[in-house]
Amino acid sequence: MSSKPLPPGSTLGILGGGQLGRMLSQAASRLGFNVVILDPEENSPAGRVSQGQIVAAYDDPTALRVLGQTSQAVTFEFENVPAASVAQLAQGGALVAPGPRALAVAQDRVEEKTFLNSVGATTVDFAVVDSVEDLIAGLERLGTPALLKTRREGYDGKGQIWVTSAAMAADAWHSVGERPSVLEAKAAFVRELSVIAARGRDGQIAVYPLGENIHSGGVLKTTLAPAVVDAATQGRAEAIARAVLEGLDYVGVLGVELFDLGNGDLRVNEIAPRVHNTGHWTQDGCVCDQFEQHIRAIAGWPLGPTKAHAQVEMTNLLGDEVEQWRALAGEPDARLHLYGKAEARPGRKMAHVNRVKGLG
Ligand code: AMP
Repeated sequence: MSSKPLPPGSTLGILGGGQLGRMLSQAASRLGFNVVILDPEENSPAGRVSQGQIVAAYDDPTALRVLGQTSQAVTFEFENVPAASVAQLAQGGALVAPGPRALAVAQDRVEEKTFLNSVGATTVDFAVVDSVEDLIAGLERLGTPALLKTRREGYDGKGQIWVTSAAMAADAWHSVGERPSVLEAKAAFVRELSVIAARGRDGQIAVYPLGENIHSGGVLKTTLAPAVVDAATQGRAEAIARAVLEGLDYVGVLGVELFDLGNGDLRVNEIAPRVHNTGHWTQDGCVCDQFEQHIRAIAGWPLGPTKAHAQVEMTNLLGDEVEQWRALAGEPDARLHLYGKAEARPGRKMAHVNRVKGLG
């Protein structure tokens, strides 16, 4: 891929108009880029802070052609954009980053785990499940409880069920819609960590300090960063991130979710080929946050520094928790990031707050 940097004034296309697209667009705007969003929803959170939005389905060939012709580089804010759309953009000559391979790997949990283990980024043991018989065989091999997840289109704990005995195999298989799935051994983790890393068009790599993540009901609630980890753990996580970035010939920011098994061992849960909720702390904890980093990477600019200058506690505000904005606006160390979503549906990510503390 060419490493000639795109100058300010160039236009970047983003597939997806949610909060990640919005924060990418804001970062791009500060660096002098124009941004065009493609999203089927009118007035999307990202569309409202960008120069333009194409309102169309992600697989609309005309919309993709217009986006490709308007943009000097195209990226995406979520991994479930149709692979065929990215392929169409690339075939039309658009510079798409991350590329189709990263997307394909992240879209299928079996492809993902197979790739990860092949580059030494070890995952939990797993079994491919295409039938209730496969599920029963998997339970015998991996033990119970084990977690059944659909191969595709699961996120935030959706499309997943813990299976506690062979007797519930048929019900569990039914509850994931009898779709191609993967059965995962239970990770006996002491905590969940994540690492956000970036790779530039010239192969340069930058890795942020780790975050420690607390989930509730399968959804991220809080990230504490930089996490309190020893140098060996930070080093192992960095090595994992590097192996993934290089193995995918990746360009852009990547999120890697890790299980800390407590004995110095890490297992990769999953990777996200995009900016990541557990990297939001970088907005107020680092000079160059993950959003600017992603824009720098896809535009072929040098990557920015990743050192933390503050300790941050990031909390997601879901649904009507967004009403806390009044109180939070009065908290001196709280930096509020509101996504501009009109409707506070239960569980919907509406905002996050970074509580900033000096480094100890
Ligand atoms: P995921 O959608 O794969 O990110 O999973 C959501 C959450 O479920 C994770 O953050 C973990 O808290 C939990 N989880 C996922 N996979 C496993 C596993 N194999 N063992 C134990 N917990 C898991």
